[in-house]
Amino acid sequence: MRRFLVAGNWKMNTDLVSGTTLATALAVGASESHGEVEVLVCPPYPYLIAVGTATKNSAVLLGAQDVYFEASGAFTGEVSVSMLRDVGCSHVILGHSERRHLMGESDEVVNKKVRAGICGGLAVILCVGELLSEREAGQTESVLDRQMSGGLNGLPAEEAMDLVIAYEPVWAIGTGVTASPDQAESAHAHIRKWLAKRYNSAFSDQIRILYGGSVKPDNAQILMQQPNVDGALVGGACLKAENFVPIIDAAKMLALAGSGLRQTGLSGLS
Ligand code: PEP
Repeated sequence: MRRFLVAGNWKMNTDLVSGTTLATALAVGASESHGEVEVLVCPPYPYLIAVGTATKNSAVLLGAQDVYFEASGAFTGEVSVSMLRDVGCSHVILGHSERRHLMGESDEVVNKKVRAGICGGLAVILCVGELLSEREAGQTESVLDRQMSGGLNGLPAEEAMDLVIAYEPVWAIGTGVTASPDQAESAHAHIRKWLAKRYNSAFSDQIRILYGGSVKPDNAQILMQQPNVDGALVGGACLKAENFVPIIDAAKMLALAGSGLRQTGLSGLS
């Protein structure tokens, strides 16, 4: 049984005071979801320690938005896996579309980071997703296949138990346009099939696949109700506790309602 994961990607937002205030509010807001739902926040590097302190002993886990693949040395501006572990990170987001498309990260670089993260004991959230032009050209599945095989190249199943995939269609990120539940489910089911083929079905069944792209309190439930959607990676709506906590609560309600509700797609929740 896959546990829901609701993750917040703060991107390059907040400052020390607002970030700590948000983290403190989330530690309180997520406390009732402990056990049912995993909650993760990924603040900017400079605030990791303060946010980690504010969420200590709460249900909220700490992650980073990127990492470098080398262990140490002359890599000005970069941060290593062991540094992230040192400040309390359990997770790292890799291959986010903003890193791929704004910073020019290739599948090869993403793969080096994925391997370094996993090897160093971080749970990696590997982001994949197509551009609007690729979707319109009918290339969604081939783009996902390329990003999956590139990102996971050389990674054996036994090392990838803590892997999480985030399907984030680029056209839905920060645009207010959300993939329909059917579009999300179809991409997630494709990714799960890919994992079963590349690894095996037992492995594929246990890997969580998050949806990301304009998730908000009012669409979180219907998206996470899809059988292959195991949580959300949230950008804009994670910056306010009054938006993020209801998304966590939606996951919690679905978790408590059980898998039958998700698989039949029945909406018994308000
Ligand atoms: C993201 O950046 O991962 C994201 C999903 O952003 P938003 O929720 O704002 O679309």
